Amino acid sequence: MSNTEQTLSIIKPDAVERNLIDEIKNIFIQNNLNIIDSKKIHISKDEAAEFYKVHQSKPFYNDLCNYLSSGPIVVMILEGEGAVFVNRKIMGSTDPKKAEDNTIRKLYGISIDKNSVHGSDSLENAQKEIEFFFKN
Ligand code: ATP
Ligand code: MG
Repeated sequence: MSNTEQTLSIIKPDAVERNLIDEIKNIFIQNNLNIIDSKKIHISKDEAAEFYKVHQSKPFYNDLCNYLSSGPIVVMILEGEGAVFVNRKIMGSTDPKKAEDNTIRKLYGISIDKNSVHGSDSLENAQKEIEFFFKN
């Protein structure tokens, strides 16, 4: 039975700044995640605050919003079998120090805040996040 899903991925400012866009996109492609849409944008702090509003009560929320709006990012729609889970698996743990070998965050992440990529954590959030960046 096929279970094709779409999920949202973001290449964060630290990775865009280090010219890692093609390397990271290649990892998605190698893992059977097709990049069906992609754009490089620079969002405002207000947009970052809206995007990350699930974290508004967290102590790191303000820094997180400043960070995501600090430079260009690449937002992508990834599509494939079990795409939400596959993407989370190849990203690795939030903290690059704890990320599994060969994951994007282990390979490229600098710190828990500069962790190179974002990925939707559920199918429901994937739909909302794709809507946020691509359907307006
Ligand atoms: P993302 O949502 O970016 O894919 P994630 O789902 O692995 O990451 P979340 O718990 O959703 O992790 O946290 C969102 C982002 O907030 C993380 O990517 C990280 O940059 C930042 N963050 C999470 N926990 C901390 C923390 N304890 N200190 C600083 N920043 C944090
Ligand atoms: Mg998250």
